[in-house]
Amino acid sequence: MPHSSGGGSHGGGFHGGSHGSGGGGSSSRVRRSYFKGATRYVYYKNRKPVIVYSNYDITKPGSLAVSILLGIYFLILAGVCFFIPGFAVCKSITIPKKLTIFTEPDILIEDNVGVIKDKDGLYDSLERFYDETGIMPAVLTVSRSDWKLYNSLEHYAYYAYLDRFDDESHWLIVYSVKIKDDGFVDWYWEGMQGNDTDNIITVKKAEAFTKNLQKYLLQSDDYTVDGAIAKAFDELTPVVMKTEYDSAMIIANLLAFTPIALMFLVMALKNLDHRKDKYYRQAMVCKQDVVEQKKCEYCGGIYIKGMHTACPYCAAEIPQEFQPQVIADSQQ
Ligand SMILES: [Zn+2]
Repeated sequence: MPHSSGGGSHGGGFHGGSHGSGGGGSSSRVRRSYFKGATRYVYYKNRKPVIVYSNYDITKPGSLAVSILLGIYFLILAGVCFFIPGFAVCKSITIPKKLTIFTEPDILIEDNVGVIKDKDGLYDSLERFYDETGIMPAVLTVSRSDWKLYNSLEHYAYYAYLDRFDDESHWLIVYSVKIKDDGFVDWYWEGMQGNDTDNIITVKKAEAFTKNLQKYLLQSDDYTVDGAIAKAFDELTPVVMKTEYDSAMIIANLLAFTPIALMFLVMALKNLDHRKDKYYRQAMVCKQDVVEQKKCEYCGGIYIKGMHTACPYCAAEIPQEFQPQVIADSQQ
């Protein structure tokens, strides 16, 4: 059903996003010094032992599956943010698509009250609009008495549209005038656009058109009725197919969804990061009192006494007294 694109008369008419607590991302920690709940690990890097404290098993790499799952959560949230109507950023971006239902212009200019002076000029303006948009414009002028049985000119324009067009691709401008006995010109106008035009004649563009047409109609010394309509169309035509952004909506959507979506992304990346450190894989749990360092007599690498039977760098056997005592005991 067509609906009003605007009109006038002589009288002149978030939801806040919840922030993630960080989840698993910030709770898995590796530090150089002890913290509550941490296990002490040693690994060897650059021929030296490195002691780290961690509250998770650093020898087990992060699961790729978990990262993928978290990544999917991120994509779903991003998808909601961008593509689900009602919230979506995509809904805030309108890319007009030219209508193709008409193969040639069939522009109606129906002047019942004789106010249109330059019909050809008006036709040319309307045709340029049609060429650009594929929307079929139409202009209808009526007298006040034609719609006195209707609640409003909008109401009348609605039925006038349905009477004349059996599609949703027209844009009908209805102009009503009554010249009173004292010469006062009592005029009203209403635009009625088919639903299929909504993607091109957006609320914003309809408002701009309405404002312009109203302005020119008020300047009756400078513009005839058809001149005002033609000028309003001529100003809309060059910009009507431009992509429209509702930046306030885009920002509101991003503010609502980005914190949660990013939390999942950070968790996924942190989980991947745990996989990354190859030194962590060969780390060994190391008791707090195991601290004495020894130097390998073959390669010169430094290792921790009491943890190895062979050098962690060159695999040479290390002296019995530096080997783990438990194993030494069992061997006896
Ligand atoms: Zn060695």
